[in-house]
Amino acid sequence: MSILLVIPDRKLTQLVAQLQQQLPDVPIVIWPDVPDVDAVVFAVVWRQPAGSLIQFKNLRALQSFGAGVDNVLLDPMLPKLPLARIVDPDLTASMIQYLDTALNFYRYRFDEYINAQQTQRWHPRSRRVLKMVTILGLGELGAAVAQHLHQQGWQVCGWSNSAKNIDGVTCYAGSAELPSALAEADVLICLLPLTSATTNLLNGETLALCRPGVIFINVARGAIVDDDALLAALRSGQVSAACLDVFRQEPLPAEHPYWHEKNVLITPHISAVTNAQTAVTQIVTNYQRSMAGLPMFNLIDQQRGY
Ligand code: NAP
Repeated sequence: MSILLVIPDRKLTQLVAQLQQQLPDVPIVIWPDVPDVDAVVFAVVWRQPAGSLIQFKNLRALQSFGAGVDNVLLDPMLPKLPLARIVDPDLTASMIQYLDTALNFYRYRFDEYINAQQTQRWHPRSRRVLKMVTILGLGELGAAVAQHLHQQGWQVCGWSNSAKNIDGVTCYAGSAELPSALAEADVLICLLPLTSATTNLLNGETLALCRPGVIFINVARGAIVDDDALLAALRSGQVSAACLDVFRQEPLPAEHPYWHEKNVLITPHISAVTNAQTAVTQIVTNYQRSMAGLPMFNLIDQQRGY
């Protein structure tokens, strides 16, 4: 019985060594070099090529190598097997730190001072008045961010599929309540998964429901945003600034207008990176559970897409 890694474009030496240390008797094989296809019972996947898993007839379970599963579910030939994802407190802590940094960056007008420095302009201003943060998505990450920001003194509201009750946070749910969640935001943070329901959710129509001058932070997935609509909203002032960590195409192509757009801050998908050590522990646990006939931890609902 072997574990298959289908994680193209990444150096896997360390991951293999760490898995091997915890599972010395289990062969770890890397796609596409698989000597015994029938021995593969468990696969760790991330951006796997479409159809790459169909030849493995004895697969019992799939494990995403990240917190999201949108890129795994893109495969139209994905075997109908339980699929788990990584849920990691370190990832949550990193996301909170990133968002704290971004919020302070705008509160202290660092965006304006970076521009002022280009022309040697000394122009002190009072801090931006930012009170209400709206968080789209109140799952593992969104709920933790909402609680943290509330404790830091922010007014926080959030939006999710199902109704939530989070201390100090105004919670909205379902499409009918999205306008209420958007209307109050000084800062809008996107922490939704990418699904058929959330693709292009932030478009000209929904961005227009926000308070004029809203600051937008996307740390979820690029395709949740209609890029042309965001650029138009930035140029009209409907959105005063955008901090983007994720993009429809990554790396962001050199010719993309975001690179040169005034008031756009780009970070290269670093807000919360999977910690290999934590991932290894979860992969090993889920492998052992699925071999024992137990449900894996952190299963996703493939019908829902997250
Ligand atoms: P999660 O636990 O699955 O939570 C998703 C949240 O979104 C839930 O609250 C869910 O509502 C809500 N939601 C989903 N579809 C919705 C819809 N159509 N309308 C309204 N609400 C909807 O996900 P997570 O762990 O918090 O992560 C969120 C996303 O962050 C991931 O999917 C991933 O794409 C992204 N991410 C990015 C990075 C990075 O480095 N930038 C790192 C990790 C994750 P319910 O609670 O009602 O189901």
